[in-house]
Amino acid sequence: MARTYAPITAEIVAELRAIVGDKYVIFGDDERLEPFSHDEVADPAYATMPECVVRPETAEQIAAVMKLANARGFAVTPRGAGSGLSGGAVPAFKGVVLATDRLNRVIDYDRDNMTITLEPGVVTNEVNGIVAKDGLFYAGYPMSMETCYIGGNVAENAGGGKAVKYGVTGRYVIGLEVVTPQGEILNLGGKLLKDVAGYNLISLMTGSEGTLGIFTKITLRLMPLPRAAVDLLALFPTTTEAIAAVPKLMMVGGVIPTAIEFMDKTSVKAACAYLNESIPYEKAGAMLLITCDGASEQQVETEYEAIGELCLKHGAFEVYVADNATTSERIWRIRRNIPEAFKVQSPKQSVEDIVVPSASIPRMVEGIEAIMAKYDVSIPCYGHAGDGNLHATPVANPKWSDAEWKAKLKEILAEIYVLTRALGGSISGEHGIGHKRRAVMERYYDPVFLEAMRAIKKALDPNLVLNPGKIFDVG
Ligand SMILES: Cc1cc2nc3c(=O)[nH]c(=O)nc-3n(C[C@H](O)[C@H](O)[C@H](O)COP(=O)(O)OP(=O)(O)OC[C@H]3O[C@@H](n4cnc5c(N)ncnc54)[C@H](O)[C@@H]3O)c2cc1C
Repeated sequence: MARTYAPITAEIVAELRAIVGDKYVIFGDDERLEPFSHDEVADPAYATMPECVVRPETAEQIAAVMKLANARGFAVTPRGAGSGLSGGAVPAFKGVVLATDRLNRVIDYDRDNMTITLEPGVVTNEVNGIVAKDGLFYAGYPMSMETCYIGGNVAENAGGGKAVKYGVTGRYVIGLEVVTPQGEILNLGGKLLKDVAGYNLISLMTGSEGTLGIFTKITLRLMPLPRAAVDLLALFPTTTEAIAAVPKLMMVGGVIPTAIEFMDKTSVKAACAYLNESIPYEKAGAMLLITCDGASEQQVETEYEAIGELCLKHGAFEVYVADNATTSERIWRIRRNIPEAFKVQSPKQSVEDIVVPSASIPRMVEGIEAIMAKYDVSIPCYGHAGDGNLHATPVANPKWSDAEWKAKLKEILAEIYVLTRALGGSISGEHGIGHKRRAVMERYYDPVFLEAMRAIKKALDPNLVLNPGKIFDVG
């Protein structure tokens, strides 16, 4: 059932201006509102224009905006950098977009406790720039680290290239200040590495996609910066051989690879063309990009040699070693830019984010190849194979009309999701459900799970004003 929200009137705009300042409210100016109508989802069908954008500077201002939203009945959608891939920051019910770009200060960097406390609008990549000089690093960052904000990462519980060894964002969030949907300021955790007093609300908030609260301060745990790191680029004749090697690499005696990224030929080719780069992909059907890091060069050498040999034993015809920062960055830049490369090729594509238990990933790829043959469609794949997380990306067959593409995409995605769930997987490993996969969530997940989430949402946001239309239907 579609909900209705109060339209943003001149009176509400005046009240918002009184809270955040005239300069920081955008209203009645479509050109300036348009960038807040979408995130990085390629299909323009998921875009919705906000009626108004506010750019607060403090938690108190955000709390006042939320109190006003409850009093007047308008919707508020929090936004980070807008790099999301599930439409989470899109104002599905119009209303107000609350941009967090002005909350961009580093509040506290505590070397002794190995923590850093930030406002949500800090660009994720900046964290490592600050702490590296002290031999520390933040390991939870996603591939979009040069653009995304730490607040958006916490809201999505973003994962990244190093998740095989270091885990995802949530492992590092130990403190949060949150403005609740009703406009209270809630403090959770702090600098503690252990704390079992009460429910673990930090875990509940992390990954809540801006539907349960707006983060205004985030305390992250830091790790010792590895002293040595090496990347391997293993070239395989086919996708099947490359992906079949992944579970084997997880079992090299005593070694946890830092990253195992998978890229098929179509993905590498698209990113190389987009960046005007070249790596030797012509003969390879697919590649694995594997990172090893550790306390010494000797340790890393032993590890990468073992992993390289295993790749050769399991079908790789070439393994390149990138043991300096420039070469490593060249390869990782190609991997990081694959989504953008597909996006500029055509909006008629859908970046998916399925995740299966890592040993099932060869069966997932086999299934996707069968779906490609059945529909005569290209579904290039890349992703964090070591975590079982694949960005399968159906791309429209150029022979299809728009209507055919829409109808076929539905069927293709249904087949991908059914297979994913049958293998014990989930439809999103890191990008979130957002607006884009809300209907699918309802179809493939247990009603008891959905009902528990609805109960939590209604308890914290009884007027349903915070980021409505996301993850599930509140009813
Ligand atoms: C090229 C590219 C590569 C990517 N690679 C990865 C990857 O490796 N791993 C990965 O996980 N994702 C990846 N993403 C997706 C995206 O970058 C992440 O989801 C990121 O965490 C979004 O951050 P953002 O600041 O852009 O958030 P937005 O897109 O602005 O918002 C995302 C969600 O967070 C909510 N939100 C934002 N700020 C707050 C806040 N302060 N409080 C509460 N809620 C908030 C929004 O309401 C929305 O639901 C990639 C995207 C691109 C374009």
